[in-house]
Amino acid sequence: MTVLEDALNQNLTNDFREVANEEKVDVNKILKTVSKGQAVIVKRTNSKPVAIGFPFRTKINVNIGTSTSIANVETELEKVKIAEKFGADTISDLSMGGNIDKIRKKILDISTLPITTVPIYQTVVTANSTGSITDDLIFTIIENHLKDGISSLVIHCGFTLEDLNKMKGKRIMGMVSKGGSYTAAYMIKNEVENPFLKNFDYLLEMLNKYNAVLNLGNAMRSGCIHDKIDEFQLNELKLNSKLAKKANNKGVQVIIESLGGHTLAKDLIKYLKLCRRITNRRPLFVSGPIPTDFAPGYDHIAAAIGGAFASSFGADYLCAITPAEHLCLPSVDDIKKGLITCRIAAHVGDSFKFGLNYLFNNDLHLSNYRFQKNWQRQFEYSIDPVKPQKKHPINEDICSMCGKYCALSISRKLFNNKPSKKF
Ligand code: SF4
Repeated sequence: MTVLEDALNQNLTNDFREVANEEKVDVNKILKTVSKGQAVIVKRTNSKPVAIGFPFRTKINVNIGTSTSIANVETELEKVKIAEKFGADTISDLSMGGNIDKIRKKILDISTLPITTVPIYQTVVTANSTGSITDDLIFTIIENHLKDGISSLVIHCGFTLEDLNKMKGKRIMGMVSKGGSYTAAYMIKNEVENPFLKNFDYLLEMLNKYNAVLNLGNAMRSGCIHDKIDEFQLNELKLNSKLAKKANNKGVQVIIESLGGHTLAKDLIKYLKLCRRITNRRPLFVSGPIPTDFAPGYDHIAAAIGGAFASSFGADYLCAITPAEHLCLPSVDDIKKGLITCRIAAHVGDSFKFGLNYLFNNDLHLSNYRFQKNWQRQFEYSIDPVKPQKKHPINEDICSMCGKYCALSISRKLFNNKPSKKF
């Protein structure tokens, strides 16, 4: 049985128990939200299940993978390790260079996290050497990924040939989703309908057989804030919602990706509310969103600002954006920076969603140790315990910012050196 079928049958498996324990949510509530399609549990055989949706902590995906320009497998494996070390919940292997099958298997071997792929990427690379994309090739690659143990697949189903024909000349940035643009190019070149939409029942059969999650990709996301949220994004959201319902009826869990790309801050909350309503509160995955276009080199920060908004108002799952966005294949350090900034965004979003619950114990401990000027303990509770030590060695008492006129030292004397709250 798939996770969704277990939930529908009230079959209390270890996955549900583990999630209840990890997230401190009543197990019956988990069964209920999963059975309604409002949360999913992503997993691999013998790995920790990860719950995505309300009422769970906002989760974070990290993209890694080779390109046709740089295909260093060891570097990608290093990225997997750094992503796990600094708190990624899932990893997406987006490899398009080198031996893609081998890289995917190596990532599955060294990682303990659920792994996602976008099979149309490998389809395009394979077709480049075999001649052309066919539906058979697409579904052979999908099945290969599932057989290897991939937990979730990103599939761009939410648009038709008619949508593509209407879209011409209506946007500054056109279509910026890689998977979406590859699928669209195949459709326009061959004048055929969306292959995933056409074969959706077959896709669901496969996903059900391998107990994998369907991640309905956001092909129509906007590539700049001036493109705004348009009819194509809304049509995709509506179509994906219908497809999600159909998938759930076949026992397949679904995540809906939307609002990604570059989105005007003014539109974010309105659109998030709309997403929740149209999708009947299905798990929402957002890539960014990046609320400005003028920050190349700093897009991880721009995306974290958008991500904090998104998480606060309904996104359940964020994709980390690195400083290399739009510029080059990210380095290991870029992956770390993107992940840390995204974790901050998710944490801020969770404080909005849940208030100061157990997720915020680190903040409480850190603040009390900060007041005491206990640098070592303060850093232990921080998101990256190593980086602050480079600015302030733990055995140094004085902080050079205010020197001997330190407000905290004065305050400690005024308030008898007592922490402000018990912990
Ligand atoms: S010296 Fe200033 S910045 Fe440093 S801990 Fe004290 S109050 Fe904070």
